[in-house]
Amino acid sequence: MAAAAKKDKAENGDQVIDATIGSLYDEEGRFVALHSVFDHYDALDHQIKGAYAASFSGNANFRKDVYEWITRGTGLQLPHSVIATPGGSGAVSAAFDSFLDEGDTVLIPDIGWTSYQLMAEHFNRHFRFYPMFDGDHFHLDGIKQCLKEIAETQERIVLVINDPCHNPTGYSLSIPEWQELIRLVNEAAEKKPAILINDIAYLDYAFDQEHCRDYMKTFEQISENVMIVTAFSCSKAMTAYGLRCGAAVVFARKEDDVREASVVIDKFARGIWSNIPNAAMENFCWVIEENREAYLAEKQACIDLLKARSDVFLQEAKECGLKLYPYREGFFATVICPKERIDAVHKALMEQHVYTVCVAEGIRVALCSLPLRKTNSLRVVNRKCTNEECTL
Ligand code: PLP
Repeated sequence: MAAAAKKDKAENGDQVIDATIGSLYDEEGRFVALHSVFDHYDALDHQIKGAYAASFSGNANFRKDVYEWITRGTGLQLPHSVIATPGGSGAVSAAFDSFLDEGDTVLIPDIGWTSYQLMAEHFNRHFRFYPMFDGDHFHLDGIKQCLKEIAETQERIVLVINDPCHNPTGYSLSIPEWQELIRLVNEAAEKKPAILINDIAYLDYAFDQEHCRDYMKTFEQISENVMIVTAFSCSKAMTAYGLRCGAAVVFARKEDDVREASVVIDKFARGIWSNIPNAAMENFCWVIEENREAYLAEKQACIDLLKARSDVFLQEAKECGLKLYPYREGFFATVICPKERIDAVHKALMEQHVYTVCVAEGIRVALCSLPLRKTNSLRVVNRKCTNEECTL
């Protein structure tokens, strides 16, 4: 889709609306690479850039800083361990391979990042969809049912929750939803050990940065039979998609369980990717230890931009009755569209030079890369593409 949009842009210039790109772009259509991150990266010594990491689990300062960064303000006291991974992808795939046996099934959202399916298949695991939404809210009953059924058929339960800023809908669970989710996972874990993978790839772009980690306090309620693995991504946090850096952060009630899990993930790392780029880890540490204020200010400007774009899009959608999945914050919003109509709507949009991405039962609009003036001009499209009466 991105290639088709590019081709159209070459022929039809500015009238093309490209809402396919899933990275941050500024109002001039340029990829955002934060100065507060990359100016220092550029100046790093070749010795640092060329060297191996200190260990397969990652550099000690990186592991310490990632933990502080993602849990700051929560006061979490659970035993934990951090293992560096190539982006959030590495953390999620390492968890799939480490906690599920071949032939087991992982629970993933029915509207979600498609890589979860590929990762499961790659490691000879199956996936089963849980329903994301019950009307405007998270489908806790659906999850409860899936957990119950999986607990009857395999020795461990693995559930993926992409939160906050779910890709592709922009949903974020409320604290009461998190409390209930943890209660359900504890309940299921009375039958079989349960691992909750919390994919926090977009955490650093939640609209309320002061409180967006508060939900992690619910982790304190996990039972002894539950483990949580958060998948952190420097691709998003540092706008460093290509540097392949991130981390799996393991939480459990017992130190022994945390140690055992990190040994397994560490072995996975050695067997698959060996080590994580030293310079990416060192630069992350410098940014959050030495340049935190400048970085936070620059990142906040990106969050403000996302908020401004989403305000326009939500308002336009509301005015013309276009139904979206419940959007709270983040990079993407998704228009609800029945499966059988998706291809037709998608094609009709392209005929109007509007490029989007089809997802399960919806059309994803990448607000992260769509300048405000283009978000505004989606008004025309919205009007023609209302869910009930598609005139396209
Ligand atoms: N999780 C979600 C939901 C994503 O959309 C992405 C990237 O698009 C990732 C994780 C992982 O990205 P990376 O491996 O670059 O950190």
